[in-house]
Amino acid sequence: KAKSIGRGQVFLFVTALRLEAVVRRLYALELHRAVDDGEFLLFYQPQVDLITGEITGAEALLRWHHPERGILSPIAFLPALERGTLAATVGTWVLDEACAQAAYWRRNGSPNLRMGVNLFGAQFHVGNLVTEVIEALERHGLPPEALELEITETIAPDNDDVVLNCLHQLYNYGVGIALDDFGTGYASLSLLKTYPLTRIKIDQSFVHGMLEHEQDASVIRATLDIARSFRLETIAEGIETESQRYYLLEKECMEGQGYLFGKPIPAAQFSALIESNKRSKAFA
Ligand code: C2E
Ligand code: MG
Ligand code: MG
Ligand code: MG
Repeated sequence: KAKSIGRGQVFLFVTALRLEAVVRRLYALELHRAVDDGEFLLFYQPQVDLITGEITGAEALLRWHHPERGILSPIAFLPALERGTLAATVGTWVLDEACAQAAYWRRNGSPNLRMGVNLFGAQFHVGNLVTEVIEALERHGLPPEALELEITETIAPDNDDVVLNCLHQLYNYGVGIALDDFGTGYASLSLLKTYPLTRIKIDQSFVHGMLEHEQDASVIRATLDIARSFRLETIAEGIETESQRYYLLEKECMEGQGYLFGKPIPAAQFSALIESNKRSKAFA
């Protein structure tokens, strides 16, 4: 009921919008400095075999080490970053840094580790993503299957020929392509038909709800069915409890990611996690 909104509330609303615009502009300036001064870093979150608990991969997740505000999560700065072409610059750095780290872990204790890298939309339109990916793999001596690029329908709308062409080349080269946050977008199903994909990442919102809400559980089961018929691998995101892990296993989802197995952590801590995972099969 629009009428019941008081003048004070409208004022607050407008002020909040202005504030957001100001913050965005502030961030835009700061983000340039962050790129120049190398204030970005990557955290890594383990992906595990849900039966054995063995680490199968890592997802590289961007963090901004802000000089005054400490370590910032992407939700705080991603919208500002994605407004310009800066995202492409950061994306190039993420790709190289994640490949370097993957190569190190594959030489040191985790020979089959697969690295997940989230793409920005801008990376399809600024520079040449295909060349960039191939060069990063070669620079660090990685086989294409060591890398899994994560895309969402937001960054890669399904009617975009440039995006499609890029993805086909990467797919043919042998790089993994995962559809992230599956089930949350408008076009999830049509994307499955148009995009060359190797894996579906089931969005954490369904995992969080699936034991309490039948609707979430049925989305999970339907997604797993679809993945089987498209011959795609699956991974469930946001697993926080053993009960969620068992439910997913029962529905034959074999891989997962979530706080139950580990939060995103700095590379040095992830190295220690690989060690203890090997020694004790920590999550079995
Ligand atoms: P995403 O790719 O879907 O990444 C998963 C997010 O879920 C991460 O948030 C991770 O910390 C969080 N998460 C993982 N397990 C759990 C869990 O068990 N419970 C809960 N509550 N959360 C969990 P994060 O690191 O804040 O990243 C948010 C989003 O920012 C990512 O969502 C991704 O879309 C974007 N992002 C992060 N790094 C990059 C990057 O390097 N490039 C691009 N283009 N986007 C990035
Ligand atoms: Mg992701
Ligand atoms: Mg996701
Ligand atoms: Mg997400």
